[in-house]
Amino acid sequence: MNFIMKKILLCLLSVFAFAPISEAQNAISNYTVCIGKASYANTDFILLRKFKQRNKTKFLAVAVYSLNTSILDSAEVKFSLSYWQQLKSIYSNTPFIKALIDVEAKSFLIQDAGVTHGYPSEKGITLTVDLCPSHKPLDRSIFNSVINAFAGIEKPVPLGLSISGRFLLNHEDDIQWINKLQRDNLIKVTWINHTYSHYYDPKVPLTENFLLKPGTNIHSEVLKLEQLMLEKDMLPSVFFRFPGLVSDSAIVKQIITLGLIPIGSDAWLAKGNQAKNGSIVLIHGNGNEPVGVKDFISLIKNKSQLVKSRQWLMFDLSNSVKGDF
Ligand SMILES: [Zn+2]
Repeated sequence: MNFIMKKILLCLLSVFAFAPISEAQNAISNYTVCIGKASYANTDFILLRKFKQRNKTKFLAVAVYSLNTSILDSAEVKFSLSYWQQLKSIYSNTPFIKALIDVEAKSFLIQDAGVTHGYPSEKGITLTVDLCPSHKPLDRSIFNSVINAFAGIEKPVPLGLSISGRFLLNHEDDIQWINKLQRDNLIKVTWINHTYSHYYDPKVPLTENFLLKPGTNIHSEVLKLEQLMLEKDMLPSVFFRFPGLVSDSAIVKQIITLGLIPIGSDAWLAKGNQAKNGSIVLIHGNGNEPVGVKDFISLIKNKSQLVKSRQWLMFDLSNSVKGDF
């Protein structure tokens, strides 16, 4: 066989050997809501979803104290199915259940329902970057600025990324770039569910826009995105951000029943809000809101002396919300 033939054969082999098999291995079926409890490695978990992957039955579960999610193999954990009323009483003193109950009490707000401010013990903010559907590329300057500003201070730098399914599917390169930053331990991403399709029409009133569009299937908007993320090896967190920060009480209840904590913001920078200590800051990373990104970059420049003396930090969303309860 000549050299060129060998090369072609090798190429073909690698295409067949790696790409389809790894995708097939990651494929998930029977993705459903499954409420229960489990304990694993001395940690109490609430089960949220059940699915099949690589011939195993797995759970997406949240640790009730840390608010961190994990994938548990059903063959390796002690678990039992349950329902919310029972879990709310068993785990009534945990940050997870307290957060769900608190958010439910504020569910009547049409804008900015959910947790809007964290209570970390130190000074600083929690950054959340929304990745709504967009034809523009990811605004990588946000990531580069944060990594440079906190070099030698916080490594990895924690940030929340609210991802929509339509952004994820259309920005394969950007997502790979973010995942590389994570592998290089430069950033630590909390993936926030921002719904699969993130409907928005600027001509429609708020009361019928975003998730309030008549006929929206909340269940499928949430679950379809989670499944897509898991197939791409991205771990969904227990946090959810309403598209446009718009919701109503019925939708908040559906999100809570899915076991997710809505995250609002008390500092949407492009709307002129000022970031305070403990703020959950909101900017857009999809190229559609350059003003907010500019404001954020000047904010971290203004704080650079405090950052250097570790008196102004970036907080992990789970820790920040946990501190609130
Ligand atoms: Zn959005």
